[in-house]
Amino acid sequence: MSSDDDTETAATDMSDALDGSAAAGAFGVALGTDASMIDIVCDHCGHTAPLAEARAYVQGPGTTLRCAGCARVVGRVATTPAGTWLSLAGSRSWRLPAR
Ligand SMILES: [Zn+2]
Repeated sequence: MSSDDDTETAATDMSDALDGSAAAGAFGVALGTDASMIDIVCDHCGHTAPLAEARAYVQGPGTTLRCAGCARVVGRVATTPAGTWLSLAGSRSWRLPAR
């Protein structure tokens, strides 16, 4: 999965973004939990919000999550024939819900 895409040109055009819950399935499979309940802390602006409130880009390849506060990428997941790639780059932390 590429890591040199438009991370820095995130700008503020989030018009094609979906609700974060659209990405919950892909991240949930990768993490083995209900991803919509995960709190994500943005490493850039410190914005903290549930995954479901982030902006999701599912046009591919893979699924990209962007911070609802500053539009920076806070997570990516992509499934390839070789396996599932999960990147949390751009986030400070993810709090998975207690089971
Ligand atoms: Zn942010």
